Amino acid sequence: LSFAEAGLHPVMLDNIKLAGYRVPTPIQAYTMPAVHQGYDLVACAQTGSGKTAAFLIPILSKLMGKAKKLAAPRPNPATFIPGVSQAVRAEPLLLIVCPTRELATQIFDETRRFCYRTMLRPCCIYGGSPIPEQLNQLAKGCDVLIATPGRLCDFIDRPHILSLNRLRYMVIDEADEMVGADWDQELKKIMSGGATFNKAARDLANHHLAMDHCKIRVGRAGSTHKN
Ligand code: AMP
Repeated sequence: LSFAEAGLHPVMLDNIKLAGYRVPTPIQAYTMPAVHQGYDLVACAQTGSGKTAAFLIPILSKLMGKAKKLAAPRPNPATFIPGVSQAVRAEPLLLIVCPTRELATQIFDETRRFCYRTMLRPCCIYGGSPIPEQLNQLAKGCDVLIATPGRLCDFIDRPHILSLNRLRYMVIDEADEMVGADWDQELKKIMSGGATFNKAARDLANHHLAMDHCKIRVGRAGSTHKN
């Protein structure tokens, strides 16, 4: 499967070319049609396999197709007062949760690359960095949120900051790492806060993440397909 055959949005195809990616890596060739067809999926691949783009390319491409309809209203800069929490209300369409600040920053850089010349605005929040700066970032508009779980829960707990009600997609990157690092409680809380994951998808993810060797398995609630 080539990028051109994957049913991607034309702007996404342009941005892939700009990134210099010519051929999809194996994991990308698996994920593009699965996401295109609306499957939930669990994918396991080594670092360096192109896994970040494997989730970003098909999901962002889908969102580009709906960006005009889904885009949150642009905040009027005149009405935005830095540091005043009531002025901040981020409602991302895509949430990507990952275990470390380094990984969050890498995902953010790649997201910016693919969101070039679109309505989609990415934001990145993580612990160990001042909260007001991140609030300011969110207040400028946030369609794609990349977050570490602790800081994300902190923001979910504050009133009027962050709503997951518009969420269309959620990615848990390095999910095995997060479960191992005792982020279970945070993940449960995040997923109960409006995410589209249903119980069947969650059980499927739990089941497959517990396996040592898993290439890629995609499944709709109630059925599992091996690829
Ligand atoms: P990752 O596995 O997400 O850490 O990606 C490893 C590296 O591969 C990153 O530097 C990506 O920019 C790059 N990359 C991802 N997909 C492709 C592709 N299809 N062609 C060339 N490079 C890629």
